[in-house]
Amino acid sequence: MTEVDTDLMKKLVSLCKRLGFVYQSGEIYGGLQSSWDYGPLGVELKKNIENSWWDFTVRTRTNVVGMDSAIITHPDVWKASGHLSHFHDPMVDCLQCKSRFRQDHVEGDVCPECGGELTEPREFGLMLKTQMGALENDSATVYLRPETCQPIFVNFKNVVNALRLRLPFGIAQMGKAFRNEITARNFIFRSREFEQMEMEFFCLPEESGTWFTYWLEERMAWYTDRLGILRDNLRFREHDDSELAHYADGCTDIEYRFPFATDGWGELEGVANRTDFDLTAHMEQSGQDLSFQNQVENTKIVPYVIETSGGLGRTLLAVLLDAYREEEIEGRTRVVLGLHRDLAPIKAAILPLSKKLSENAAKVEELLRPHFPVRFDVTGSIGKRYRRMDEAGTPYCITYDFESLEDNSVTIRERDSLGQVRVPIDSLVNEMTKLLRDGWPAENPGT
Ligand code: ATP
Repeated sequence: MTEVDTDLMKKLVSLCKRLGFVYQSGEIYGGLQSSWDYGPLGVELKKNIENSWWDFTVRTRTNVVGMDSAIITHPDVWKASGHLSHFHDPMVDCLQCKSRFRQDHVEGDVCPECGGELTEPREFGLMLKTQMGALENDSATVYLRPETCQPIFVNFKNVVNALRLRLPFGIAQMGKAFRNEITARNFIFRSREFEQMEMEFFCLPEESGTWFTYWLEERMAWYTDRLGILRDNLRFREHDDSELAHYADGCTDIEYRFPFATDGWGELEGVANRTDFDLTAHMEQSGQDLSFQNQVENTKIVPYVIETSGGLGRTLLAVLLDAYREEEIEGRTRVVLGLHRDLAPIKAAILPLSKKLSENAAKVEELLRPHFPVRFDVTGSIGKRYRRMDEAGTPYCITYDFESLEDNSVTIRERDSLGQVRVPIDSLVNEMTKLLRDGWPAENPGT
């Protein structure tokens, strides 16, 4: 990691706390390592990303449906999936500084932190377990799901029967997953409790290659077109044979240029052809028939599945890093979160030029509040208030000035171009709806 990049992470972590995006969990008690809480702006950003994913993956397609499964899962699910026997990462400990690392994260045979001697690799179980019911015996041991996709396979028949689905189709789910990670670090990039956004797309085996390519392109398009992440900061990375799970017939990660990653890139999402491995495993474990009637040939087949598996926290971190910028304007540094308007937690701030105008300006806020998340801010100079909103990623500021009392109009100022336009309050809801849908028109003054 270069000095500049370390600096960027520090600035971002501090901005997240100061503005209410992300806090360390249990901070007043010294903090729970690698557990994070989302504040008022963070929860809005998170929900906007979730909604964007759900909309893109489920709502706008005729061949993908959603579901929402329990977090505490039947232990046999994890037997069938192989998690109980295989979900272990070999880890090494430093004998000197006591840091612990995943073996595949260490280059060479000394501690990356202090150069000390490392232990031999040891297995480390990644599933978090708990007891269900009053009796603490083995039969009551259950697991918090380490991924959201297995319950999709388990419910495959239920969903197919309920909707009379025909191949090809997808089932999507997003929600919490838990892994007892050996080294949880890099802010929200790797934590023990996180959220996944996953979709399993079932298809004929002979069509799985085509669908794999299709979903890879679709997923990349979501990051660039919907979230506004720069394409140059994203890349595809194909797994080589040594990384590929034995059942998989291809896996490609979508990676982001994370400043802390040793080779400059870190995984955002994996797209994999999992063949018929999962459904077959659940058929064997449960004794239930999860095969599918192939209408074309009137035969029974176990479909192949293309999985898209992304993480919400990592996406949110990539969105923030990509949006963060500093600009020098008239000798001052302006910090801007250039968030896509669809993701911005606050869509517009209403700023009276003087405290004396508060009452009238508050009416503008009341007018907009039913339509968009807005914020009223009267404290500090107008320049300071603009800067606060720029840092929070708010795309539009609406200034109520003394002239507004006469002409019943306000000025909308756009965050990136600093362009301004005067708009009658009567048409403000319409104008803001247009600006939030289409963005700032190039011909507006100041652009
Ligand atoms: P890594 O190699 O980084 O541990 P993985 O290959 O184990 O990731 P998957 O099992 O493919 O990850 O999970 C799918 C997605 O879930 C990842 O691409 C990532 O976005 C997210 N994810 C996985 N583990 C974590 C974690 N501990 N914290 C935050 N997000 C995670």
